[in-house]
Amino acid sequence: MKVGILGGGQLARMIALAGYPLGLKFIVLDPDANAGAAGLSEHLHGAYDDPELLAQLAAKADVVTYEFENVPAHVAEFLTSHTLVYPPAKALAVAQDRLLEKDFFNRIGIGTAPYAAVDNPRDLRTALASIGYPAILKSRRMGYDGKGQMVLKSEADLEPAWHAMQDAPSIVEGFVPFQREVSIIAARRPSGDIAFYPLSENQHSGGILRVARACRDDAEQAMAEDYVRRLLEELDYVGVIALELFDVNGRLLANEFAPRVHNSGHWSIEGSETSQFENHLRAILDLPLGSTQTRGNAAMVNFIGGPPDTQELLNFPHAHLHLYDKAPRKGRKVAHATVRSDDAEVFAGTLEQLSALAQRIDNS
Ligand code: ATP
Ligand code: MG
Ligand code: MG
Repeated sequence: MKVGILGGGQLARMIALAGYPLGLKFIVLDPDANAGAAGLSEHLHGAYDDPELLAQLAAKADVVTYEFENVPAHVAEFLTSHTLVYPPAKALAVAQDRLLEKDFFNRIGIGTAPYAAVDNPRDLRTALASIGYPAILKSRRMGYDGKGQMVLKSEADLEPAWHAMQDAPSIVEGFVPFQREVSIIAARRPSGDIAFYPLSENQHSGGILRVARACRDDAEQAMAEDYVRRLLEELDYVGVIALELFDVNGRLLANEFAPRVHNSGHWSIEGSETSQFENHLRAILDLPLGSTQTRGNAAMVNFIGGPPDTQELLNFPHAHLHLYDKAPRKGRKVAHATVRSDDAEVFAGTLEQLSALAQRIDNS
């Protein structure tokens, strides 16, 4: 079986690495000749919407999936009419537009922060009158790692924030006073079978995920599973999904979902019986899902801006290094490390040291 992937970055790379033991082959489409997954698979080199390359991808792949949610609708449509595409195009359409996404959450009974569509400075003023400060202005489309977002603390921020948006259709949301951020990752097969991962507790700074940690026996697990199940079933979803949630005094509010494997589930490579990457492949190929049982304590630290020194990192016996083969650049995720141990003290100590190391690199 050959799996096609739109996008050849680190997520495609980790999908391919999970698929080789299952005897799978991969073909990625990516405009970057040096994309991290390119060396690991057959590579179609060119634009995502190049009709000829898409036709080749559809002809060669038994199923096509993707590693980013901004796949243009006409690309998803074309592929869907020529081969199996999972997750379904509808999930893409909802996830790519923060307004449709928030409307969808609310329609299926999943609470969110208060929000309003913003298409001009007047909309923004009107919305703030009911939402109040602080609030966050976000572009409806294309944002990631907190890009295209502005915090609004008072009326004086409105003019410059709207200006920075450059007239892009936007959404304004109330700032959620959360105690913590969590995400839930789940995989669904065409038959409807679902496997849920334990919640991940996620720390962000500057809008970028820094540390994600597996939570065993979390009090909010059942509520999160209920929410993600609704999403999966309403979208007739196939593959892995990630739902990002704010925990406010034990009540969960949805932030966004990603119709793909997710950074907050990278600890599942070493920390789960079956990783999110393998379960994504099992789901889209309609194979039995693997156990999502965690193995002891597991967490992941992102390296932003530059990778850690390999020698230094591998000196930690409970750390596992994942380099993405990406050029260092300020604010860019280029590697992560998983910490895994049955010993809670060893785990906490190693995690603390790796977080400090990642912070030093990011500040340098
Ligand atoms: P991602 O890389 O996760 O796709 P993104 O650019 O789509 O990021 P969000 O997930 O919407 O952006 O926001 C990034 C982070 O900013 C959140 O994880 C959270 O820490 C903070 N944030 C976003 N919206 C809110 C909000 N309404 N209230 C409080 N904090 C928020
Ligand atoms: Mg996002
Ligand atoms: Mg997010």
